[in-house]
Amino acid sequence: MIDLHMHSHFSDGSHSPTQLVQEARSLGLTAVALTDHDTIDGVPEFMEAGSRLGVTTVPGVEISVDTKLPNNGHMHMLGLFIDPGSRKLKSTLDYLREQRNRRAEKIIRKLNRLGVPVTLEELLEEAGEGSIGRPHVAKILVRKGVVTSIQEAFDVYLAKGKPAYMDKVKLNEVDAIRMIHEAGGLAILAHPHLMNYPTFRETRERILQLREIGLDGFEIYYSTMPAAFSRELIRLARELGCAASGGSDYHGANKDNIRMGSGLGDLAVPDEVYDRLKAFWEARTAERPAVGK
Ligand code: AMP
Ligand code: FE
Ligand code: FE
Ligand code: ZN
Repeated sequence: MIDLHMHSHFSDGSHSPTQLVQEARSLGLTAVALTDHDTIDGVPEFMEAGSRLGVTTVPGVEISVDTKLPNNGHMHMLGLFIDPGSRKLKSTLDYLREQRNRRAEKIIRKLNRLGVPVTLEELLEEAGEGSIGRPHVAKILVRKGVVTSIQEAFDVYLAKGKPAYMDKVKLNEVDAIRMIHEAGGLAILAHPHLMNYPTFRETRERILQLREIGLDGFEIYYSTMPAAFSRELIRLARELGCAASGGSDYHGANKDNIRMGSGLGDLAVPDEVYDRLKAFWEARTAERPAVGK
């Protein structure tokens, strides 16, 4: 089995890239991808651990896309097989992370105004070298006893519509896909069910639109994806002849109900998903060499 969606402490996961590869190896996974939010800083360590421990490792990233979706839906774009040496990718990600820092300051100000004592220094320390996100804020609130769980921190303060919520600066879908392509990667729509369209027909329409601007494929397996939805996506990928991927979205202890490889328990992404994806990427690379290095 494989797992092509996971986070390290370079974003909001709890494990180091090396620990992720060690865990993959002990679970007998044959291929794993590191897909941290807005950063590829963990990729070199991840690749090195992969070759040392004999696990196939895929360099990746996960980008939040600014777009309109129903019912608080969200769109995330995975870049898989990206070149971590791409300067264009690095500078865009640096910009996004700088914007995350600004947003973090605003979240702190909002919390302070609500009488919650958190400082920017504490937050920077919590995030370490990682890309700062709301989960880091949530962890501090739990530690300080302001709330009793990460979930409560979101429900009371940090979720969209709650008093300390702040939007983050995001790329639009054209720019997200272009950036991934310029770095030589495949643009894969993450967890399509979380776009929250009420019907599969609308999900399909949206995917067709994204295909027109260069989307290479989408995740067909994911921890919380309903089985029927997954079957529809498998059929759609076959129909369109596009790439298909799958993974748990493992965050280690920071999302403790999701396990690497097996998700909520019944996830199982077959090895052939990796083989097909890799072949798809190789064919793409041959016809569309990476530019802008
Ligand atoms: P950020 O990138 O700072 O917007 O944080 C996004 C992360 O926060 C996601 O990857 C989730 O892990 C977590 N998250 C977002 N919304 C919620 C929510 N309503 N409840 C729990 N966790 C959430
Ligand atoms: Fe996350
Ligand atoms: Fe995501
Ligand atoms: Zn993710």
